[in-house]
Amino acid sequence: MNKSCPCGSRQSYDQCCELIISAKKDATTCLELMRSRYVAFTLTNVDYLMLSHHSETRPAKERKSIQKWAESVHWMGLVILNTQSGEASDDIGFVEFRALYMEAGKMQERHEKSLFKRENQKWVYVSGEHF
Ligand SMILES: [Zn+2]
Repeated sequence: MNKSCPCGSRQSYDQCCELIISAKKDATTCLELMRSRYVAFTLTNVDYLMLSHHSETRPAKERKSIQKWAESVHWMGLVILNTQSGEASDDIGFVEFRALYMEAGKMQERHEKSLFKRENQKWVYVSGEHF
């Protein structure tokens, strides 16, 4: 597969987020995990969205509605605005981003500052503050 990665990295998908989504490689930084989760939304890969979510805040009961919603929108792009910590040597990190999507024919955006922590050594998404 040679298509460019939906996360906007300009790398091919199989050299970028696919490695993390298919568990060939762990995300080194919380930004890598963030990008892979955006891509999982574009692919409606709810299994991965659950797996990459901290077990204490994982929305397992909302699984179906997340799937339905992700299928109903058309993802337009990811813009990373800011990161704090979240490097290979950190245990906590933040990523502020804008994710653009079309929903019911209208351009929408999710502007969020997400909190990431490590669970069993791996970066996972904990929660987000919305703007
Ligand atoms: Zn990517």
